[in-house]
Amino acid sequence: MTPLELEDANISKMKRGLSWIELKESLKMDGCPVCNTMSRSIDKYFEFLLYEYALDASVHRKTLASFGMCNAHTYLLKEAEAKLKSDGLNISVLYETILQKEIKLLTKVEERELNESKKHFGKFGKRRDFVVYKKEILNELKSKGICPGCLHQKGSESFYTNEIVRLGKDQEFRNKFENERILLCRRHFLFLINEMEDKETMDYFVCVQIKKISRLQEQLSGFIEKHDYRLKSGMTEEEKKSWEIALEYFGSKKDIDREGYNDLLIR
Ligand SMILES: [Zn+2]
Ligand SMILES: [Zn+2]
Repeated sequence: MTPLELEDANISKMKRGLSWIELKESLKMDGCPVCNTMSRSIDKYFEFLLYEYALDASVHRKTLASFGMCNAHTYLLKEAEAKLKSDGLNISVLYETILQKEIKLLTKVEERELNESKKHFGKFGKRRDFVVYKKEILNELKSKGICPGCLHQKGSESFYTNEIVRLGKDQEFRNKFENERILLCRRHFLFLINEMEDKETMDYFVCVQIKKISRLQEQLSGFIEKHDYRLKSGMTEEEKKSWEIALEYFGSKKDIDREGYNDLLIR
């Protein structure tokens, strides 16, 4: 097989898989397909975690290390529990273990004392000893792991970005991707560039992105200009929505942590 045939074979193999079904679903939605796929993926993950794995030892190990979830995932987990129509039992099982750990740690801190010999130091020494003592305690209390929700998001973010790069040459994908409603957020556009392996695919995605954001910029400037009362009636639906799309382009969809995964960008 020539390299091109091999690539076609890979794409058609991928298109029979689950990831294409997921991406196709996201290409029916507005905005960034990576953000949309990640949102559905984390919902499923939490549902699975609560429903099937609330008693699982490895899940407990992860949530213990990170002392539960980060802020965004705390509330997504709560929503997942509600979707399961649970009264909170699954979360209770998971978080009771973390509370036990917290109590154990704080008891250890309470019982801990400044090293006896250091107590005889002069005033400055004592203060310095106290600073060291405080640092040691904080070190014990700080989390030793990443939020399991963030870990999952990192995985799906990298996986689906890669799948889009692989699909970049497929015509069916291109037709869906070029639709006006689809716009990769800036963060995932950079991810995509990071995953590129040839200039041709890179040129394609850059060209599409330029077209899409130029259209957005025109709509946004139309929205601003037409605020003149005489022109307000001529405002299009796209122009009315353009400021929200611009916000989303730079800030990604809700609960997609913009800073949390920067380590993936430069490898
Ligand atoms: Zn995105
Ligand atoms: Zn998180």
